[in-house]
Amino acid sequence: MLLGLVFIKLQSEKIKKVNQVANYFGTNGVRGKFNKLGPELALKVAQAVGMYFNRGKIILAKDGRLTGEVIGNVVSAGLMSVGCDVVDLGFAPAPTAEYMVKKLEADGCIIITASHNPPEWNALKVVDSKGIAVSKERGEEIEKLMENIVPAEWNKTGSIVPHPDAIKQHMDAIKENVNAQQIRARGPKIVLDCGNGMASLISPQVLAELGAEVVVINGSVDGRFPGRPSEPTEKNVAELIKRVARENADAGIAWDGDADRVVFVDETGNYVIGDKVFALSVLWKLEEKKGNIVTTVATSRAAEEIAENAGCKTIYTKIGAPYLSEEAAKGDCVLGGEEVGGVIWPELSLAKDGILTAAKMAEKICERPLSKWLADVPEYHNVKKMIEADEEKKKQIVKKMLSYAKEKELRYIDIDGVRINLLDAWVIVRASGTENYVRVFAEAKTMERTEEIINEYMQILE
Ligand code: MG
Repeated sequence: MLLGLVFIKLQSEKIKKVNQVANYFGTNGVRGKFNKLGPELALKVAQAVGMYFNRGKIILAKDGRLTGEVIGNVVSAGLMSVGCDVVDLGFAPAPTAEYMVKKLEADGCIIITASHNPPEWNALKVVDSKGIAVSKERGEEIEKLMENIVPAEWNKTGSIVPHPDAIKQHMDAIKENVNAQQIRARGPKIVLDCGNGMASLISPQVLAELGAEVVVINGSVDGRFPGRPSEPTEKNVAELIKRVARENADAGIAWDGDADRVVFVDETGNYVIGDKVFALSVLWKLEEKKGNIVTTVATSRAAEEIAENAGCKTIYTKIGAPYLSEEAAKGDCVLGGEEVGGVIWPELSLAKDGILTAAKMAEKICERPLSKWLADVPEYHNVKKMIEADEEKKKQIVKKMLSYAKEKELRYIDIDGVRINLLDAWVIVRASGTENYVRVFAEAKTMERTEEIINEYMQILE
């Protein structure tokens, strides 16, 4: 009897294992420390990605992380083993590699970068032929292919060709998309904090060539990130903030490790958070060209308000760059962006481009100081809280929020958690995908009102 039960349990575990989705892909590719994302996993992912992109031409790029060399070699071998031809950009910012996908008419792209994560992390970011990063949902298709890798015949394996001109080509495209004359005429002084990341390879050069006077800190590539942690938070860019004042500069700019995200410092030393970088970009873009903007449900309402004032519509997506790019690919928006300072300029590519965003800022501060532009961004205050919850409770809380919105006939968006839009504020409830809590985030025009709203909703939800 006991043996029988053990047998049934073993069998059911076996079935469970077979049916389990591997779950390697997150919101932005396959990410992990070297003991998880090591050569074995990297090889399998690369082979499956090669099959997913029909064994075509694949662009490969990496950042300066210490494990990048090992993973890069394995990934190129994996791609070639299933018949892909690899175009190797070597070290390149993520936006450069993403820009090159369309330029070189590639079938896909793998970027080896853990973006803003600490140095012991690395990741494989997978991008399709349109330049759209593969989402978690599309990643599941690649995970399925990983279970049945079919290598190419011995005489059909792929090749690898270096392409060292990518950064120059990206720089040329950026220069064509900003008003270089305006920058050259005024020659703004800008302090650049490249954070020892990929921005080091492109930003100082392109901004100098555009006519800005640049002062560079943390400008050499180093995968240990000795200058500062690679996420450009206010605390992490303290040196930049000081330097802007000391140099009497017009602005400061800091990027994350792969240079798709950017934050600013204005001429008075104020840190400009990612949300505001996006809002400013909306302001600048809609002055030139009217159209819809696209952003995630976690972004400040400042962007929507600017768009509204310009007579333009805001389209909301789930949180994560792939969803923004998918929406931007439909072709009816002029700008995309997310709250951490990633801005998509569809005239160049469907990926977040921290270099073009920076160049645009350099152009615009020649018209008015950055602090004056910021005065035109509607002021919002936010508060974030968490409710501890297991899986069951997480679902209940999100459901409660949705029922509340329906019952009170409030405007809401439920594509990713539930966001309730009030007249002067909004509040979103989202279950964490990896940890045991639910995030509650509220934003309003004054801190007082924000506190009032978050307390009200915490009471409703708990
Ligand atoms: Mg990044």
